[in-house]
Amino acid sequence: MRRFSSRCSDFIPTEYTNIKPFLPSLPPPPVGPDGTPVGPEALSVLFPSGMIEHEVTLEPRVPIPEKVLDAYKVYRPSPLIRAVELERFLDTPAHIYYKYEGTNPAGSHKSNTALPQAYFAAQDGITRITTETGAGQWGSALSQACNMFDLDLDVFMVRSSYLQKPLRKTFINMHGGRVCASPSDRTESGRKFLSEDSEHPGSLGIAISEAVEVVLTESKSCYSLGSVSDAVCLHQSIIGQESILQMEEMGEYPTEIIGCVGGGSNFAGIAFPFIEKMLTGGGHIDFTAVEPTVCPTLTEGKLKYDFGDASGLTPKYMMYTLGAGFVPPPIHAGGLRYHGMAPLVSHLVKLGLVNPVAYEQKRVLAAGKEFTQIEGILPAPESTHAITAAIDSALAAKETGENKVILFNLSGHGYLDLAAYVNA
Ligand SMILES: *Cc1c(COP(=O)(O)O)cnc(C)c1O
Repeated sequence: MRRFSSRCSDFIPTEYTNIKPFLPSLPPPPVGPDGTPVGPEALSVLFPSGMIEHEVTLEPRVPIPEKVLDAYKVYRPSPLIRAVELERFLDTPAHIYYKYEGTNPAGSHKSNTALPQAYFAAQDGITRITTETGAGQWGSALSQACNMFDLDLDVFMVRSSYLQKPLRKTFINMHGGRVCASPSDRTESGRKFLSEDSEHPGSLGIAISEAVEVVLTESKSCYSLGSVSDAVCLHQSIIGQESILQMEEMGEYPTEIIGCVGGGSNFAGIAFPFIEKMLTGGGHIDFTAVEPTVCPTLTEGKLKYDFGDASGLTPKYMMYTLGAGFVPPPIHAGGLRYHGMAPLVSHLVKLGLVNPVAYEQKRVLAAGKEFTQIEGILPAPESTHAITAAIDSALAAKETGENKVILFNLSGHGYLDLAAYVNA
């Protein structure tokens, strides 16, 4: 039995694929405080022009800039692996595959969008990017990308995770980036939350407010978002494109695709190219988006217009949301704590094309330990949500005798997040 796709050197996507022109309807546009749609020009104070084009394009195929493609070549295509040991352990008739996005220099799928974002900033003559990071992977990926494209980087890191993961700060510093804990005293938004609670654990929504506030008051600087936006989902499409060819090479086609969801981008990355195939006459696939029970955006949130940040500085997006003021419990170690969900992923849930589920932290971390010992890769705490759902689905197939082919995205490795597993 073949365990790895060997399509490892002869194919790298040269275009991003855009789900939008294939959907029966599009999500409603972002709106300003008065409820009127905001056009792309309103975003130009925050984002480089190349990013705005990617945010709004309806072209089905969007070329990947050559310099970005060169950077991708360092680590793409990423491996697609059949989890034969896990299948054996579960004694399931299901075939389980995973696409592993932890092999790049920053260790998660976030590099797939960090590189084009840094490239577009440099193209516009921008010298500094300001951003937020929650668990730290986004700050890490962007620090590496900014270093490659000669940009300064300033990161607001959610305080609870800044304290839990001091080595993330070191990683970012090693690539020349700067990090501070959020809420900080550097911005009006940060000072407001600190005055309410001097030990405020922070949230992604607050960290986004701080980063956006800095960009709005500085020239030659731009903001960069690691998930959620349409442009980020577009960049991540390379994951699914490679998976289509690699599954073909293995002689199989998935019946179920699973991804964990924080803001929704790695799920979008693996799922959207397959959804395009399904909507254009391909076989049916079940799509499962997995979130933590402590941040149940899709399973318990409401689909409505809400701000992307905690202080109301961004436009409002139509998305599943727990409310922009949502602060997840600081002891939660599994990441995936954003209050909202990518408008495109939200829309697909609403259309019934994607099925959301929520899992408890204890359970997913235990599955992470099991996976480490069976497959030999220590997963990011976020990715263990997808692993757990894949295991459940494979065990269900054992009951029913169904011939399932399960594909999940292993969004990153957990070597810099070992603290999450101390008690697993
Ligand atoms: C950021 C991150 C996630 C969650 O973000 P999405 O945008 O939902 O993909 C999941 N896994 C890893 C490894 C991450 O770094």
